[in-house]
Amino acid sequence: MSYFFISHDIETVYYLADALAVMYFGSVVEYIEDIPLFEQLQHPYTKKPFSSVLTCDSRKSKGFGVDFEEPKGNQNTARGCAFAPRCRDAWELCFREKPALKEAGSQHHIACHQLYQTFPLYQAGGQR
Ligand code: SF4
Repeated sequence: MSYFFISHDIETVYYLADALAVMYFGSVVEYIEDIPLFEQLQHPYTKKPFSSVLTCDSRKSKGFGVDFEEPKGNQNTARGCAFAPRCRDAWELCFREKPALKEAGSQHHIACHQLYQTFPLYQAGGQR
């Protein structure tokens, strides 16, 4: 039997879930199949709920705490990444083409043009 648990309480998700899918504007932007990979999450939007976690365990908040831009004007993202107006890493391609969910590593998928360049398969000249 499987359950879907939807929450912004990332700490609770960590303790209840086996897998984690992060959604923004109706699309999955990051997915890990195994919750121990939790600390490998790196999509720019994923960092937002992490930055709001109150914890005494500094290991869980390591690398997080990123603030985001306010949306920049009326930029049309209908064809591109929905997060682009708020993303500090956004570039021209982000507003033109919606990023697909691609394999970033074992049991880890990310939809982000910027992060594709860090994927081992991308660097090896494979999946793009
Ligand atoms: S695709 Fe571009 S705008 Fe979207 S999260 Fe990645 S860098 Fe930011």
